[in-house]
Amino acid sequence: MNQELTKEQILEIYNTPLLELITKAAEVHKKHHKTGEVQISSLISVKTGGCPEDCAYCPQAARYNTEVKVHKLMGVEEVSVCADNAKKGGASRMCLGAAWREVRDNKDFEKVLDMVKTINAKGMEVCATLGMVTEDQARKLAEAGLYAYNHNIDTSEENYENIISTRTFEDRIGTLKNVRKAGLTVCSGGIIGMGESVADRIGMLYTLSLLNPQPESVPINALVPVDGTPLENQKPVPVWDMVRMIATARIVLPNSAVRLSAGRLEMSMEGQALCFLAGANSIFAGDKLLTTPNPAYNQDMEMFSILGLTPKKAFNGKPEVQNA
Ligand code: SF4
Repeated sequence: MNQELTKEQILEIYNTPLLELITKAAEVHKKHHKTGEVQISSLISVKTGGCPEDCAYCPQAARYNTEVKVHKLMGVEEVSVCADNAKKGGASRMCLGAAWREVRDNKDFEKVLDMVKTINAKGMEVCATLGMVTEDQARKLAEAGLYAYNHNIDTSEENYENIISTRTFEDRIGTLKNVRKAGLTVCSGGIIGMGESVADRIGMLYTLSLLNPQPESVPINALVPVDGTPLENQKPVPVWDMVRMIATARIVLPNSAVRLSAGRLEMSMEGQALCFLAGANSIFAGDKLLTTPNPAYNQDMEMFSILGLTPKKAFNGKPEVQNA
């Protein structure tokens, strides 16, 4: 059963004095997760730029004048080498991102299915973020060995149209349903620092908490403003907001893997340590996160050693889909 919290209750959690909030979140974290273990994930852009969508934060949207160069879909061999390097760097999860509005039933999709098979055979969890998918396409991905499908809701339902106009919040939820029906685990979270209100942050967590089952994986990103995008002038997210958001997500979504995602380059090791204490289960490592800079594997291993964390091993066997 989902823990059904109201928006007011989630707001109350979010507004708890920070140290008390971290303490409460740490207790929930300890109860539901191995606190000394953090998963290293790697996210690569297998097809970059030229996207027809208008997500205000994204340098890959074709309509914005950014420095991102369009690249066609990578080859399976090239992706396989990236996965080997990520694994050597301690990653147990590999996420493949393509700047598509939706998956089409064509040769490129066949190639992505091959990428999934290849990485799955290396004993890594494979996640994909390819835009909207039908149930049938999600099933094909599952059959190829995909572990998770990422489709972020990004923000609250109320704020969605201020960030994206080329698809609706309902489209987003529809894809998540297709993913779930296909037996894949669900990865869905959002971004803070896009000019949203606290109510929008709460609304986003509220929607995620109502998904039944709740998503197995919830990335919390801090906006990395990129020149040329509509959000280029947004102020950096204070580290305290990230810690507060992660702690609230941990309490609201007790079983989910909360992923400290984009924006880590701006955070000190102390800030990241507070995020781990507050319930972050995972980081994205490697010098790029799709198209924006990110800490390299060796910097993260140094941090793990100082904080006494160990990288989580890949899953063994079938995906652990949460029970409704
Ligand atoms: S976030 Fe994804 S869907 Fe939106 S513009 Fe960027 S690549 Fe396209």
